[in-house]
Amino acid sequence: MIRAYSKTNVPMKKLFLLAVCLFSLLGLTAQNISFTQPSDFFGFEPGSDRNLFNYEQLIEYLQKLDGESDRIHMEEIGQSPLGKPMYIAFISSDENISNLEKMKKVNRELALNPTLDPATLKEMTSEGKVFVLATLSMHSTEVAPSQSSPLIAYDLASTKDPKKLEWLSNVVYMMVPCHNPDGMNMIAQNYQKYKDTQYEGASLAGVYHKYVGHNINRDFVTLSQSDNQAIARIYNLDWYPQVMVEKHQMGSTGPRYFVPPNHDPIAENVPAGIFHWGGVFGQHMATDMTSEGLAGVSQHYIFDDYWPGSTETCIWKNVIGFLTEAASVKTASPIYVEPTELRVGGKGLSEYKKSINMLEPWKGGWWRLGDIVEYEVSSTMSIIKTASLYREDILEFRNKMCREQVELGKTEAPYYYIMPEDQHDQGELVNLVNLMKEHGIEIFTLGEDVIHQNQLHRAGDVVIPLSQAFRPFIKEVMETQVFPERHYTPGGELIRPYDIASWSLPLHRHVASHEIKVRSTDLESKLKLHEGTYSLNDGGVSEAAAVVLPVNSNESFRAAFHALASGLKVQRLKEEVQLGGKSFSKGSFILYKGSKKKAWEALMESLPFEPTPLLDKRAFASTQLELPRIALVETFFHDMDAGWTRYIFDTYHIPFTVLNPGDFKDKNLAENFDVIIFPDSDKETLMSGKRKRGGSYYQGSYHPDYVKGIGKEGMEKLMSFSDQGGIIVSWGRSVKLLEGMQKIKRGDEEEEFSLPFRDISADLSKAGLYIPGSLVRVNLIEDHPLTLGMPESFGVFSRGRPVFSTSVPIFDMDRRVIGSYPEKKVLMSGYAAEEEKMGNKAAMIWMKKGKGQFVLIGFNPQFRASTQGSYKLLFNSILLEKID
Ligand SMILES: [Zn+2]
Repeated sequence: MIRAYSKTNVPMKKLFLLAVCLFSLLGLTAQNISFTQPSDFFGFEPGSDRNLFNYEQLIEYLQKLDGESDRIHMEEIGQSPLGKPMYIAFISSDENISNLEKMKKVNRELALNPTLDPATLKEMTSEGKVFVLATLSMHSTEVAPSQSSPLIAYDLASTKDPKKLEWLSNVVYMMVPCHNPDGMNMIAQNYQKYKDTQYEGASLAGVYHKYVGHNINRDFVTLSQSDNQAIARIYNLDWYPQVMVEKHQMGSTGPRYFVPPNHDPIAENVPAGIFHWGGVFGQHMATDMTSEGLAGVSQHYIFDDYWPGSTETCIWKNVIGFLTEAASVKTASPIYVEPTELRVGGKGLSEYKKSINMLEPWKGGWWRLGDIVEYEVSSTMSIIKTASLYREDILEFRNKMCREQVELGKTEAPYYYIMPEDQHDQGELVNLVNLMKEHGIEIFTLGEDVIHQNQLHRAGDVVIPLSQAFRPFIKEVMETQVFPERHYTPGGELIRPYDIASWSLPLHRHVASHEIKVRSTDLESKLKLHEGTYSLNDGGVSEAAAVVLPVNSNESFRAAFHALASGLKVQRLKEEVQLGGKSFSKGSFILYKGSKKKAWEALMESLPFEPTPLLDKRAFASTQLELPRIALVETFFHDMDAGWTRYIFDTYHIPFTVLNPGDFKDKNLAENFDVIIFPDSDKETLMSGKRKRGGSYYQGSYHPDYVKGIGKEGMEKLMSFSDQGGIIVSWGRSVKLLEGMQKIKRGDEEEEFSLPFRDISADLSKAGLYIPGSLVRVNLIEDHPLTLGMPESFGVFSRGRPVFSTSVPIFDMDRRVIGSYPEKKVLMSGYAAEEEKMGNKAAMIWMKKGKGQFVLIGFNPQFRASTQGSYKLLFNSILLEKID
């Protein structure tokens, strides 16, 4: 990770200090004269109507201020997915800024050391400072937090207000001025493009991120995106701030501002004190902002603290973390809200009226970017003030959390999670262990075999003891999720989760893990701390001319696709083979070194496990691996599931072409592609570019250039593609495209048909089936090209739709049910109401019509890059052999 000081301007700073002395001699104050005002720099007042600066301008301004002020210090923290440098600005008293490295060590001790002696602890809490991390505008359409940051930085750098100076002596404000630099520029550019036209304020066509758009805030367990890795590292491994706030915007017609506490459900594993402290910050914000005349502050509304996945996931790591949300405008253009348009809806507030959690409802009228900026500045000052007021208490609290969690890990089950080295997919064990290290978790291995409670654990098995400061996080992501059912009234409506309900790393990755509920000193005596990157490949580069990689592992697919992309020869076994004491199932890969020594070496080193060398010249029955030409369908409407699919394909070295629904009618699909993939997307959006509610269509806020769908002609092209031997893979709502009557045109001839399936999920939902996003069990058929490398039974991520029923086919059609839900115990992790309604129903089907093939999947095989257990179903789908 990059860690560079941006103090190339130190000489400038010296000159500046000299200037300060001179000015002082002349009786002038440097503060007024030499700090660059934001409005002078940007050419407009940040927050003024219809004005936005971009990411480079923002950073340039803060760097300029860093050069001018001893109260600011900027550091590079990593890179965005499109390669932009990311920064954090430390803002505090000049004394604190010159002491950052020392205070960083204090933070670390307070966060991680459970055995500080009372005198040292006292010294640390009385001299330490509260570090408040603020991450701004990760959701790039929510522009105000980043746009307000120069004003906050300037104010804190130049203030002579004794109150604020006291805050700065007690607090180090760590501002990440923009969490999503790529998106910030996309949105600023898009705004500029339509400014002064009839389409001013039009939404961006596509996601405001390289891949994941709004889902950037669903990634803080998985840490797949480089911007999130940079942010998480701040609280997992580097700076251990005691307080964190992520700054957002919400809808336009509800409350003006949201501050903590959040609503139920809340995480069982997070200690009460974290929520209490979040409430303290929220209460201060509500009080301070309201007294400054800012109406419409709400609490205890919509947003819950149940699911870890947002930046706020740091609350599982003893950070007092929370979010704020401001009502939005049209990017930077003002809006007028009619009083009759004001509404609330959702957890906590049912009427837009004075309530204990919205004491001064906003009355409607004009709402401008400048209003949001004012709320942002006010809430930020309140957070810094609160941190200053409770400085010692907060620092004491942080170490108390550490001591309590370490102690709980010794006195309360579970005590350890043990993951055998021998796994169905060893690569996923390696990836899981390294992910936990990225989360700041200590990993151990067993130095020798241990029998504990009649179970043999072998030397080399991975052990994660719960007796660690970040115990809440370990437990949360290693256990099976059981949803905390709460109701609004006794026996009344269930309080539903804000997001999903399952995230268990071992279950989502199909990695075997044992939860140990009885402590063992014998086992503890055999633990060895693992340092550095975890890998099961320590053999260096194989001398053999070829190696075999098991089809069971996602990493074998990654290596095989990478090898193809590097020009190496790859084959797949047509039958099971025994080699080097291991069994390689049908579909396993043989990679040949050939003449590409460098590519070969890089590939061998990148493997997380040892490849098995192919030393003899035995001829195995095998086929050549070739990648099909893939089209991935992505709409212009913030299509996050398609974005995640692009991310998976890029990281597994699978080439593809993005196809927009509007492109279908003018493309000869059969000539250009072998496989067309439809990720989860609404059928009406795919067909027309519009949304259908009730019987009517509605248009989103997109420029008409982008409001296009597949249409009737496009659908004919798709069916013609299938008729000529194309393969269509579809999951989630998009399977609806293929339901019911279809038409193939061959010259003047037309054939109508309907595929032998139906999506029955609407019926099941009416009958009470409700799954907010949980892991459910699927049983697969054996010995089918789509199930190569898969276990017989495993968990898939489901939202309860679609669920298939198939029928006995007619004419040249056929079908096979590839996977189905078991009769009982469908739910593996999360929440499901009436789960048995899915029992014995089809979860994944294969169909054919003539030479065309269809793979329909009732779950998201690559959900937010967090369901590694089902990736191979996607890989197998694209590698399906064509029908001659
Ligand atoms: Zn947001």
